[in-house]
Amino acid sequence: MEKHRAGNRRRRLVVVPAPFQGHLTPMLQLASILHSNGFSITIAHTRFNSPDPSNHPHFSFLPFSDGLSHSDSISSHNLTAITDTLSANCASPFRDLLLRLTTQNIACIVHDGLMYFVDSVAQQLNLPTILLRTTCATNVLAYHSLHRLLSEGCLPLQANETCRHADERVVPGLEPLRFKDLPTFISTNSDVLQYQLNKVQHGIKSSLGVIFNTVDCLEGHRVDELRQIYQVPIFPIGAFHGMAPDSSSSFLEQDHSCIAWLHEQAPRSVLYVSLGSIITWEEKELTEMVYGLLSSKQKFLWVVRARAIDVTEWVESLAEDVRKAIGDRGCMVRWAPQKEVLAHEAVGGFWSHCGWNSTLESMYEGKPMICQAHFGDQRVNSRLASHVWKVGVEWSGDVMERGDVEKAVTKLMVDPQGKQMWQRAQQLKRQLRQAVTQGGSSRNTLIHLVDHILSFS
Ligand code: UDP
Repeated sequence: MEKHRAGNRRRRLVVVPAPFQGHLTPMLQLASILHSNGFSITIAHTRFNSPDPSNHPHFSFLPFSDGLSHSDSISSHNLTAITDTLSANCASPFRDLLLRLTTQNIACIVHDGLMYFVDSVAQQLNLPTILLRTTCATNVLAYHSLHRLLSEGCLPLQANETCRHADERVVPGLEPLRFKDLPTFISTNSDVLQYQLNKVQHGIKSSLGVIFNTVDCLEGHRVDELRQIYQVPIFPIGAFHGMAPDSSSSFLEQDHSCIAWLHEQAPRSVLYVSLGSIITWEEKELTEMVYGLLSSKQKFLWVVRARAIDVTEWVESLAEDVRKAIGDRGCMVRWAPQKEVLAHEAVGGFWSHCGWNSTLESMYEGKPMICQAHFGDQRVNSRLASHVWKVGVEWSGDVMERGDVEKAVTKLMVDPQGKQMWQRAQQLKRQLRQAVTQGGSSRNTLIHLVDHILSFS
């Protein structure tokens, strides 16, 4: 059991997650870690995509209104619009919520870096804030580079999306990231981008510290660079899920039948395929994927998320021999218990979009990846996984094509190159687990974080 470092009198942290799966999960894990270290936790959350309090009986939950409708669904195209809506609508309800809590000895507000409105409210009420950035640290350095490149007029953002995608030049100081790997929040409009980058930088500068779900052995020198640039304490205390007690934060129900299916498969024989909670596929892409997967001759567990079509109907529309081949070789689900899947010995690789949680979860279980980034920080993660940590096959095509699928799967699951990645992934797994054990880098940094919060509470 963790020592209750916050002392006999529990100090209250108000924790504000962003209402996206890849943000809510790490924030609740962080809250559990801080709770184990003696803090009381109040989760202040939007009504939109709200967490389920019954999964976290030790926390109290307080909703505030957000101006979003429950029928709103998140896609890569409306993420920025949704965060803007939150910024426009949440400040006042959040302030009212805090005013109702003032008697409860708030030590600090810990908030997601996308919940921009928190800062101004905290300043008005003279409450300290700590930021959680749910990306890797290199991604925030990449924002910093974007800011600099924009102000120097060096970024070809005026060019169209195709030109930008073709830009193979390496970004000075961020090798091996190329210009085409920079996270541009979808926008290629310089003014919009500048505005977004200003918000990121302001958030970091006005907080009393920044927490990352990353690990020194992955990004220690990048974390040091951030400390130099921003002159704020930075706390890399990942992998959160290696320290937090397991509790569900899934918006969708996890289909555990795939675990029974995995139990029947040989060790390292299955490719797990999932592109996270936001990306969905067109019917044409699904068809290319299924043919590519079948030609690879590998077994697969596939989280199928489709745009504008019903997956069951799509499967039924496939030719009978294709359906039979899937039945012999594949298991398809709508949503998987991903961490359990990745921990399973039958899984030999992960075809991933390289969301940061998925990337870290995969490395934590020693599973190499096919890295198929789509937008935002995924490109940064993909480049790091393939070229720095060397545990990933980088997807190079722009479109989904069955021949490319077959090649990438074979490279990861069969070829000598894939076998080397497997070995490298085992080394990394050991290092990542070491970091979260007593005396490891993340555990030690967590002690500093707790002391830091206590120093101003
Ligand atoms: N996830 C899951 N089941 C699935 C697919 C994903 O539980 O079938 C979880 C996964 O473990 C991760 C999160 O959803 O914690 C996705 O976060 P990530 O940052 O990888 O990607 P995003 O969804 O934000 O693009």
